[in-house]
Amino acid sequence: MASSWIRISSAALLPVLLFIACGASPRGNAVAGGDSATAASGQDRSGSPLRVMAGVVPAGYLARQIGGSAVDVSVMVPPGREPHTYEPTPQQVTELSKAKIYVRVGMPFEESLLPRIRATAPGLTVVDLRTGVELRPISGGRRVLFKPGDPADENLDPHIWLGPRELATEAATLRDAFIAARPGERELIESNYRSFTERLSTLDARLARMLKPLDGKSILVFHPAFGYFTDTYGITQLAIEKDGREPGPRELLDVIRTARSAGVRSVFVEPEFAETTARRIAESLGVDVVVINPLAADVLANLLSMAKAFLAGTVGVS
Ligand SMILES: [Zn+2]
Repeated sequence: MASSWIRISSAALLPVLLFIACGASPRGNAVAGGDSATAASGQDRSGSPLRVMAGVVPAGYLARQIGGSAVDVSVMVPPGREPHTYEPTPQQVTELSKAKIYVRVGMPFEESLLPRIRATAPGLTVVDLRTGVELRPISGGRRVLFKPGDPADENLDPHIWLGPRELATEAATLRDAFIAARPGERELIESNYRSFTERLSTLDARLARMLKPLDGKSILVFHPAFGYFTDTYGITQLAIEKDGREPGPRELLDVIRTARSAGVRSVFVEPEFAETTARRIAESLGVDVVVINPLAADVLANLLSMAKAFLAGTVGVS
């Protein structure tokens, strides 16, 4: 079961992944976990903020939004690195073993890392942001409601922080997990949650109005990271990348043909990815390459920037 998300397949990691991916997922429950003594007191022994580690930058942002001063958040995949092929450093594994909560999004490295760390960090609670989210199959079809402990499925889109409605579910998962770990901070966490979800729904309404001109239209992206976003606003995402790799010559022709008949006017690429193929396709289509970043730190601001880029690059308004 080679994961389609392992783009530059890391040969060293693959046997570990094969071994782990078929096994049980860490923690059967999104919020349950060790450390009940901490939960009972509402503070850990030092009275310091709850140590949280997040898989990717946007998950770290969400954890800070909901946890506020009750949490101290670090992130596993540094800005500018590609999460699908990332491998944590030994220092990060050590750091993770000192955290109380790990915020997971479903990247391949997590499949391997989290079961391994359970032995050395029995008090670590894994909070899976996919909990309660209907995951979209990358190759199309019906969405699948995720429950903690569900086996890894490389066909399910992990970019869940780019869907405004999915974000509301993720915020609630974090709220519950942080309150369970720090009941003494309940008021603060609930208030952070309310203010975040209010900003989110205001933004969602604004995006729905803004993106009306794109309803029924297609955008062409290199890496298919924007499906939760495009699904929300009736946009079709066409991707150059196939099953996590660059397309072959035949697939390339298919992409160009589909994009041409869909009338795309831009190719959207991520800063982490090689642009050569995207540039070649843009040239054949006679359109521009536009860089957008699905991993930007301020998720809400980024959703607005993405919407503006999609508008400007598709129908020429911003
Ligand atoms: Zn991605």
